[in-house]
Amino acid sequence: MSIQKWDAAVIGAGPAGLCSALQCAREGLKTLLVEKNGISGGAITAAGINYPGIFQAWGRQLIAGIGWELVKKTLLETGAPLPDFSVPGDGSNRGMHVPINPLLFAAIADEELLKAGVSIQYHTMPGALKPTRDGWTLTLCGKDGLFEAESAVVIDCTGDANAVKMAGFPCNEPLECQPGSLSIYVDNFDPAALDTEALQREFDKAVARGEVSAEDFGWSKKFNIGFLLGRGKNSNHICGINAADSAGRTAIEIAGRQSVRRVYRFLKRQPGLEKVQFHIRSAECGVRETRTIRGEETVTLEDYFSGRKFADALCCSFYPIDLHDARLGLDFRRLPEGVTPTIPRGALVPKGSKGLLAAGRIVSSDRLANSALRVQATCMATGQAAGAMAVLCRRNSCGAMDLELSEIRALLEKHGAIVP
Ligand SMILES: Cc1cc2nc3c(=O)[nH]c(=O)nc-3n(C[C@H](O)[C@H](O)[C@H](O)COP(=O)(O)OP(=O)(O)OC[C@H]3O[C@@H](n4cnc5c(N)ncnc54)[C@H](O)[C@@H]3O)c2cc1C
Repeated sequence: MSIQKWDAAVIGAGPAGLCSALQCAREGLKTLLVEKNGISGGAITAAGINYPGIFQAWGRQLIAGIGWELVKKTLLETGAPLPDFSVPGDGSNRGMHVPINPLLFAAIADEELLKAGVSIQYHTMPGALKPTRDGWTLTLCGKDGLFEAESAVVIDCTGDANAVKMAGFPCNEPLECQPGSLSIYVDNFDPAALDTEALQREFDKAVARGEVSAEDFGWSKKFNIGFLLGRGKNSNHICGINAADSAGRTAIEIAGRQSVRRVYRFLKRQPGLEKVQFHIRSAECGVRETRTIRGEETVTLEDYFSGRKFADALCCSFYPIDLHDARLGLDFRRLPEGVTPTIPRGALVPKGSKGLLAAGRIVSSDRLANSALRVQATCMATGQAAGAMAVLCRRNSCGAMDLELSEIRALLEKHGAIVP
């Protein structure tokens, strides 16, 4: 069988990958989108984090473009109200997320991908990336086995920098990653009938017996009544696992389900909770942090917190610093009034690479900056920016760092993005 040739191969169809692939294909690139799951959306669909944020700050919209278009189409389909971008906010994330129906989001994304001519390969993963004279050979694994593809540009949107690592470029991994969370939905109980103090007493005893752990409910060493009042959601913390590769991913999935089961067993024994029911909200454990690339440029905490306007900024980002440290607790810092951080082109380019780009939560950044810029709206914006660079690299036969910034920005604006 002859090897298929592509202008751009996007690996991962999460918030970043969707926007990358759509940007490439809408500008005429022959685009392949490879996704290990059977559904696009990444954490939106697979991890139950169906409330992308943050598109706005200080009373104006900061992120638009393809990501916002998909979110808006989903809101319009369900008749949900559009967010009010004129709300000034307080530098935190409060009230700024946009709840969407994940299933319809994925259906809309499928439709847009097909309309744009993207070749979607679900249930497929890359096994190897080898450089060629003018691009990459990818060894892909589908359900029927291995096959090869060639692509001029590869865009890593895996959330774990899997493609960048396979291509042999160094990445950063923290000694201990932030905990993951397995989203669930809890019902069939009356919150008003619960005795919080009695629950706390029983919880302390169950922790002492090793039946349940504080992390199973979230941060606090106390019984987290918020877990019940919030109907579960993503309160739990699955600690101490780096889920960047299949072994880590397997470990975190198993640990997540065991954690939920411990909670279920504990709650069922408590008065008022005998009939409590747990429902699946996501097939996978949500992963906050694994790897970031080492880019031509790196966004630091100082850059992010001061709202540094990088000379080669391609998009804005907005979120408070939000590092979930399993040992130290939550490092949460509101951004000072008026601060709107930016993401530079160099953070999307693995240092010294050619024909290789990265987008989403893996962009080159230190841990604290990453704890903010990992959110979905920023991932969408970096995804679109990587797609725009792929288009221009192909058109001008050059590397991403050689592109005229004005050309990248003009292309992004043509597709509705807000360029800082
Ligand atoms: C518990 C939790 C709560 C969060 N809360 C919020 C929130 O409230 N608002 C917000 O905006 N963000 C939130 N986030 C952060 C946000 O969801 C992620 O950082 C964001 O989804 C990252 O987008 P991405 O496109 O980089 O990666 P992902 O969303 O992880 O998507 C990556 C995609 O690539 C696929 N993939 C991975 N590896 C491969 C491979 N080797 N081959 C093929 N495909 C692959 C995956 O299946 C997935 O579809 C939260 C995250 C977690 C875990």
